Amino acid sequence: MVEWTPDSLAKRVMDYVLLMGARTAGIATLQTLEGGPPSTDLTYVLPEAKSAVSFTVPIAQSVIDPYLSKEDRDSQESEARRANLISSGIASSLENYLEYSGFKSEAIKANLVYRDTDSGEEQLGRNPMIPDISHRYLAARSGAGFFGLSGNILTNEDGAAVILGTCVTSAELTPTEPIPPEENYCDDWGLCLNSCFSGMMDEEEKTTVIIGDIPFSYSKRREYMRCGFVCGGMSGLHPDGKWSTWSPGRYELPEEDEAFIPLIRSTIKSYYKRPEMSGGAYNVLINSKLYTTCANCQLLCHPDKKTRAERYKMLTTNGVIIQHPDGSLERVTPEKAEEHVAAMDEETRALYM
Ligand code: SF4
Ligand code: SF4
Repeated sequence: MVEWTPDSLAKRVMDYVLLMGARTAGIATLQTLEGGPPSTDLTYVLPEAKSAVSFTVPIAQSVIDPYLSKEDRDSQESEARRANLISSGIASSLENYLEYSGFKSEAIKANLVYRDTDSGEEQLGRNPMIPDISHRYLAARSGAGFFGLSGNILTNEDGAAVILGTCVTSAELTPTEPIPPEENYCDDWGLCLNSCFSGMMDEEEKTTVIIGDIPFSYSKRREYMRCGFVCGGMSGLHPDGKWSTWSPGRYELPEEDEAFIPLIRSTIKSYYKRPEMSGGAYNVLINSKLYTTCANCQLLCHPDKKTRAERYKMLTTNGVIIQHPDGSLERVTPEKAEEHVAAMDEETRALYM
């Protein structure tokens, strides 16, 4: 058996994930995560936990412009799924490696794992969707990435186009430090907020989270189901009617946070009756396929400011998505979309608005 030290094993596990396809990596420990939110508690998933390996897996940049221009949705969805599966796979592979090296370990799935919460009358499915372990907090504290105004994790290599990954372990590992603020490219310009009409990210206020004595700030969250409603594909038309996400839905978004859960409850039945689109995936949160229709705040955030501006323009000047009876989607002008909706019979129109 190799005699590991916290230094040598930390170096080995970071090399391990980078060789497996991760782009960046870092180490967080019980000490560096001390005082953080509940989802930084590593012992929730592994009582013997002492450390965690955090890493990012890139989403290929090549699928982003066609997606934001509303030319090609499916390629981005497949690519993001591939990155998610690679992230979960790397974590699982590292768990195996560490177990055979004598350390109890637990791979954290990339996505769609939520803590059991007391979901009372007013709750919806797994809402509030609190993850077993927050990949984001661990990534920021370990320096695998840094917070942008959006609350997404960014890297100087891939912007926000990354899927995060984590493996928790009982091994003692030497922690890595957060990326210094001067190396964070986020300029608070706010194109992420402009690209989001759900209102989930507060335009005025920031929230600050202290993890291991270090503060991390990003836009304050309003009701998370605002994002659930738009990103989930229920509705996609910007209030100005000139551009949309990939969703053909056009419900008006209420002002009040409290209105979103009842709204989702009442509109989900129409969502289920829409014709099936290509792609999609089954999802634990709903009783049908879920399709990628937004992720705008993530995908337009490139390290280069000019690219961010170009992507925002692509998103907001390429018209509106409509759905045909065979399920296919088409990008058309706002005027043509109005005609399309006006020509629907009442029953069909009720599926979208
Ligand atoms: S889009 Fe701009 S403001 Fe938003 S996170 Fe990225 S760099 Fe920061
Ligand atoms: S995924 Fe879409 S709806 Fe959700 S916060 Fe980002 S831009 Fe807004």
